[in-house]
This record gives sequence, structure tokens and C-alpha cells, in this order.
Amino acid sequence: MRIQTAQTIRLLGGSLALDFVNSVDRDETGRHRQGTDVLVDSGAMIQWGRRLGVIGQRRRPLIDARELDRSLELREALYVAFAAVAERRAPPRGSLERIEASYREAVQASELRWGSGHARIGWAADDPRRVRYAVVRDAVELLGDAERLARVKLCPGHNCGWLFLNTSGRQRWCSMETCGSRAKMRRLYQRRRGAS
Ligand SMILES: [Zn+2]
Repeated sequence: MRIQTAQTIRLLGGSLALDFVNSVDRDETGRHRQGTDVLVDSGAMIQWGRRLGVIGQRRRPLIDARELDRSLELREALYVAFAAVAERRAPPRGSLERIEASYREAVQASELRWGSGHARIGWAADDPRRVRYAVVRDAVELLGDAERLARVKLCPGHNCGWLFLNTSGRQRWCSMETCGSRAKMRRLYQRRRGAS
């Protein structure tokens, strides 16, 4: 299997927050699969943030170990909350509290800026927390949007655990090329074994 990095990992979530959750694969119990986490250090976080457009090209924030930990804690809370949503359950209280804590911080640190004829809420270009803040803002917007929320799905693929927005209404897997075709292969194999 090819080892993914922050540069190469596929972006299939359909939202910034879900792509953030999908930066690691999980087994059926939600546990990380060893060796699949692409956010291994601060450098990887910066690469990921750049790729997703939440960190600019010119000014590079310094994400320290503490901020990396906090971001990965948020990732777990988001996984727990959105996996529950995908199963049509209410997110556990603790996960919402952790999301709320980051969101509160993000609002506190935000700046209102004017440009191109409209106002924008954002954070200083060199603020090391901007990846976490942009992710949590996106998560809160998604949690408050009943229509999009109803489309959140957890991929049933073996050892995948990715979350995505099922925008077509027919999408079963995070991706037909990976989880979809693996499941097809497995069914074929089982059928052949059953036949012989
Ligand atoms: Zn999948």
C-alpha cells in the first residue's frame, strides 16, 4: 500500500472539517490504523493547511507541539461528533464541548477585515492556530446546516473510517476506486470460494 502524505492524501470529504477528520484511517471501532496518519508533525500540518488554502504561501505560521496536539484533539472530537451524525445519533456531549471550546477561541481571535467590497472574518496570517480555527468554523457551520448534515456519511469500507458529504444521494463509499472496488473484490472472492 502506498504511504500517503499531507500533499498526496485524497480530499473526498466535501468539507474542510471532514477532510481534516479524514487525515487518518480508522478501523470499525474508530481507532487509528497505524501508519496512516498524515498529520505527523507541524510541518505536515502546515503543508495540509497550505493545500487546503487556510495557510497562505508567503507568511508561514509556526505551529508548535502544543498547537499540533490541540488540533489532533479537535480531530478526534470531530470524528466522534460526525460519526454519530452519520449514524443519525446526537453527537456525545463531550465532543460538542470540545468543538465549542475551539470555536470560542477562534471567534475571540478573529479579526473583521474589509476587502474587495465586503467584510471577512479571519485570523492573522501568521497565527499558528489558523488551521484549527478554520476547521472548527467549518465544522460549526456544517453542524448547524440540517440539510447538509443529513448527507454526512461514514464510509463502510474495511479499515477506512472516512466521513463525507453524500451530495448525489447515491454515494455509498468514500471513493468507488478504493473502498468501493475493494468491497467488490472481496465479494467476488467470497463467491468463488463458496462455489469451489
Ligand atoms: Zn472509504
